[in-house]
Amino acid sequence: MARVYNFSAGPAVLPEEVLKEAADEMLDYKGTGMSVMEMSHRSAAYDTIIKEAEQDLRDLMNIPDNYKVLFLQGGASQQFAMVPMNFKKNGVADYIVTGQWAKKAFQEAQKYVKANKVATSEDETFSYIPDCSDLPIDDDADYVYICENNTIYGTKYKTLPNTKGKPLVSDISSCFLSEPVDVTKYAMLYGGVQKNVGPAGVVIAIIREDMIPESVDESVPTMLQYKTQADADSLYNTPPCYGIYICGKVFKWLKKMGGLEEMKKRNEEKAKILYDFLDSSKLFKGTVRKEDRSLMNVPFVTGDKDLDAKFVAEATKAGLVNLKGHRTVGGMRASIYNAMPKAGVEALVDFMKKFEAENA
Ligand SMILES: *Cc1c(COP(=O)(O)O)cnc(C)c1O
Repeated sequence: MARVYNFSAGPAVLPEEVLKEAADEMLDYKGTGMSVMEMSHRSAAYDTIIKEAEQDLRDLMNIPDNYKVLFLQGGASQQFAMVPMNFKKNGVADYIVTGQWAKKAFQEAQKYVKANKVATSEDETFSYIPDCSDLPIDDDADYVYICENNTIYGTKYKTLPNTKGKPLVSDISSCFLSEPVDVTKYAMLYGGVQKNVGPAGVVIAIIREDMIPESVDESVPTMLQYKTQADADSLYNTPPCYGIYICGKVFKWLKKMGGLEEMKKRNEEKAKILYDFLDSSKLFKGTVRKEDRSLMNVPFVTGDKDLDAKFVAEATKAGLVNLKGHRTVGGMRASIYNAMPKAGVEALVDFMKKFEAENA
């Protein structure tokens, strides 16, 4: 069966080359006579896999030595709790609510700290990023929290908020490795990998060492303390071994492709094809304020629910799948992550043109 162009928001498309390599190694990983799935996480072969994965990620993102890289489980959603549990000092945290994921993180934080909503774009269905240059940051805030790329709404911060010296924590799940970042501007970045990096089951946290407390409230489970994971180099218990192995392959693929500068160039090129068409179309239109548009997630509508449904159905038949928008926005959403080839975006735009002509 032929592969489709998969515009899913996550779990999402992975590089075909990586999948083929994993298939080749499925029964016998490098002469070990076993699959990585069957291997002890304490074995020499696995030690090399996880150490190389970490080093390749450090190379790609230029991660300074005073940051820990942790491979964790529980998805991005578990970080919604781990962040306040671990970073609580004064017991106050400031949240910028730019979508469902930021809102969930904000709500979860309320269980552990006094969480302030210092800005939001909920008034216009999260279709823009609020001005974050002079927010009412709490003097006691232990950190300021953002969701940097809003997967559902298709917005992305183009400049980071002014946190007035407070540590910045960012959920980068859906823009992970899509372009270069200056890690030193953050106290912590983290992302579930199933959007742009690997298979579901792994979340990667990059945390400045001084943020990791020596001790936390004794009610915090051992597994949910960053210190436990950091001290054990992500091997306190059995990690999501196979998922980390695939992430490692994606890192090597990204390096081979030319790294994050090159990915940014490609992603800008791909996104431009789609946004330029949306801006010129009489039928389709983008839902996001232009200056806040994401390179990764592109929501659009026709303005007619029945026509949206017809479009999604016909696109699926044409091998362009998972284009249905999130239920809170409606319409369509094309997620065009690193592994989506330019040809996939071109095929989508060609199909949209044809659909527009037929339904004018
Ligand atoms: C998908 C997503 C999440 C939730 O991820 P899980 O791994 O399912 O918990 C959180 N934040 C962002 C930005 C996402 O895109």
